[in-house]
Amino acid sequence: MRFVSTRGASPALPFGAALGAGLAPDGGLYVPERLPRLDARDVEAIPDGRLADTLAAVLRPLLGNDPLAARLDALCAEAASFEVPLVPLRGSGDHLLELFHGPTAAFKDLAARFLAASLSSLRAPDAPVQTVLVATSGDTGAAVGAAFHGREGFRVLILYPDGKVSPAQAHSLGAFGGNVRALRVAGSFDDCQRLAKQALGDAALRAEVPLLTANSISLGRLLPQMGYYAMHALRFQRRHGRPLGFIVPSGNLGNAVAALIARAMGLPIGEVVLATNANPTLSAFFDGAPYRGRDAIPTLANAMDVGAPSNVERLFWLAGGDEAAARGLIRVQRIDDARIRATVAAAEARHGIAPCPHTACGLAVLEDLRAAGDTRDWAVAATAHASKFLDVVGPLLSSTPAVPAAFAALLAKPAHADAMAVDGAALAEVLRADWATP
Ligand SMILES: *Cc1c(COP(=O)(O)O)cnc(C)c1O
Repeated sequence: MRFVSTRGASPALPFGAALGAGLAPDGGLYVPERLPRLDARDVEAIPDGRLADTLAAVLRPLLGNDPLAARLDALCAEAASFEVPLVPLRGSGDHLLELFHGPTAAFKDLAARFLAASLSSLRAPDAPVQTVLVATSGDTGAAVGAAFHGREGFRVLILYPDGKVSPAQAHSLGAFGGNVRALRVAGSFDDCQRLAKQALGDAALRAEVPLLTANSISLGRLLPQMGYYAMHALRFQRRHGRPLGFIVPSGNLGNAVAALIARAMGLPIGEVVLATNANPTLSAFFDGAPYRGRDAIPTLANAMDVGAPSNVERLFWLAGGDEAAARGLIRVQRIDDARIRATVAAAEARHGIAPCPHTACGLAVLEDLRAAGDTRDWAVAATAHASKFLDVVGPLLSSTPAVPAAFAALLAKPAHADAMAVDGAALAEVLRADWATP
């Protein structure tokens, strides 16, 4: 299988090259040349076992005869080294898809680990060190840092907006050390992203310092997310004979598009509903307005503060390029900060759980579906652990959620991040410096 740009004007790439690629040269996003379809027999043959096995089964048709195919089982086992359970939501017939059991307590761990394992496995022993440059609003940087930490031949430079990530996130970003370094930028997330893009677009710099990106534009950060939707939808269908729908707290649409791709390939996934925060881009589009990106609005669910979701081009691609058809693939509902607060507080009493602000958006959407008389089966994707956002959820809860062990270990380490202005020359200087030897 080869991978082509959504804009159709870039050369096709093999899987391994498309994995870590950012934007295609024509500005589009890489997608498979054609979407493989699993027939009923193929789906039946997917084992009901570990996440790693389901992940390998859904990725295999996308790899075709790529050199990585021979190592796929090992790569999936390395990526899916933690549980992704579907747990009943107490006091209801609904479910929570707990995506926060990885090393940095957010869903981004799974795909970041797959990407790191794959790029490591593709690396020639004498290749120069590659620098993974990542701009983050908090969770991406930690997941990518953890996934590449200590990997020979790679180093990671994280750019985050100083003062605009939660205290736990800030600590985790600076706690890796070794080949992972964090810069706290005196600006917004958009400034960080612009700095990263500018460096990635600087051919002279890239000739000196080989650079990679690892945000959800990269297919390696997106496709592995098909695994958990496929595993639980299939298991649910086998046990109950009905499809399971998913409510996915969404920002850049990487997580939700993975569910849509898995469904398009033939997995028995029900309806996919996007829960967004107050940022109106997706809900306005879904309600019938032509698609239009906007500036992001800051909210309590800050990992979803996105005004122009980068994966929207993949949504249109799935719909055959037709905006009206894209509205048929998803539903969208927007949740404001007041509702996020109310939902976090109510979830403790109603379900005995402490949701993070992003997961709370999903729970609020579920509540509205039930209030409107919807009787289908739903799982809400719990995209991060509440303890990463204690500054928001702490005051709303009667007890403080315990930090998961792996993330607690990161928080227990000393942390350091250097301050930097929004200054491309300063960033280039850090990139040229020899701060991490493999
Ligand atoms: C990144 C993130 C999201 C948004 O995911 P997208 O793939 O960008 O839609 C939601 N919740 C949390 C906790 C995140 O870290």
